[in-house]
Amino acid sequence: VSAATRSIRARARLAVVAVIAAAAVSVMAFEPPSEAERLAAIGSLEKLSPKWRRVFEPAADFEPMPKPNPGDWLSVHPEKGQTFEQFAESEANKPTKTHTRLYIQPLGDFSEERGPSLELLREYAAAFFGMETRALPPTPLQTAAVKSRINPYSKKQQLLAGDVLALLKRKLPPDAYCVLGVTMEDLYPDSSWNFVFGQASLRERVGVYSFARYDPDFYGEPRGPNYKNLLLRRSCKVLTHEMAHMFGLEHCIYFHCIMNGSNHLGESDARPMHLCPVCLRKLQFSVGFDVADHYKKLLAFCQKVGFHDEASWISKRLEWISRTD
Ligand SMILES: [Zn+2]
Ligand SMILES: [Zn+2]
Repeated sequence: VSAATRSIRARARLAVVAVIAAAAVSVMAFEPPSEAERLAAIGSLEKLSPKWRRVFEPAADFEPMPKPNPGDWLSVHPEKGQTFEQFAESEANKPTKTHTRLYIQPLGDFSEERGPSLELLREYAAAFFGMETRALPPTPLQTAAVKSRINPYSKKQQLLAGDVLALLKRKLPPDAYCVLGVTMEDLYPDSSWNFVFGQASLRERVGVYSFARYDPDFYGEPRGPNYKNLLLRRSCKVLTHEMAHMFGLEHCIYFHCIMNGSNHLGESDARPMHLCPVCLRKLQFSVGFDVADHYKKLLAFCQKVGFHDEASWISKRLEWISRTD
């Protein structure tokens, strides 16, 4: 057998392997849930009062999860989803009499110039979760306890996320339900990774998230006239998404929802700010807030900071849930 034939055979074998791999992927590919599956995920509303039933009925206000595009989260991670019932049975962490507050811990430089307003992030989390939320004074990060490196691609400094979590654990306030560390520094989970947006230890109630890659300046792009608003919006979204994970909410596959997984910035930006009925029911079950109150606080916030599209969505939804026909 000539070298050329061997090489053709080898290539043919490779091709077969590739086809099998592609077939395996397509078997596993994510199929968006049907309407019946979406409703089943919300769970039975039968025993609820008409008022509460309305709160969790999707009506025309929520877009079903579409088929993912190549590169989107669900095309790479075909998740099975978590229904309300599965969540209720999961014995996830819940706020208790002793663990009552949410904390935001800024790490490193969080000046006006670089980061989103901490006070606005605090207000947003308080409105979203209906829990008292405090922002702690910034902690410097250039300590011996946190390992860092220069990323070979971006040439920017990155902090080892696990070390930051250990730092947060040591400082956990006794009344904390959870502490979310936020930083404008880029993070990495271990030396084999390029970067990570964030990392959390759900049981130990600490997490850290970086907003570095939400700033166009990170990629050497101009910030644009509306960049402060864009950075605030992205930061609010990542904050509530990650904090909701701390309540045991898994990624949502049912509707367009703040709990959708995200693989890239375009996908994060396309995600709405609010929870779908499945995820709203989970968070309400955990925290016990009044849903109209939840929406009213979020509406006031969105109007104040100029999140106009989200404000008009909330107004519309509030109208639906307060109807009495
Ligand atoms: Zn997530
Ligand atoms: Zn959802």
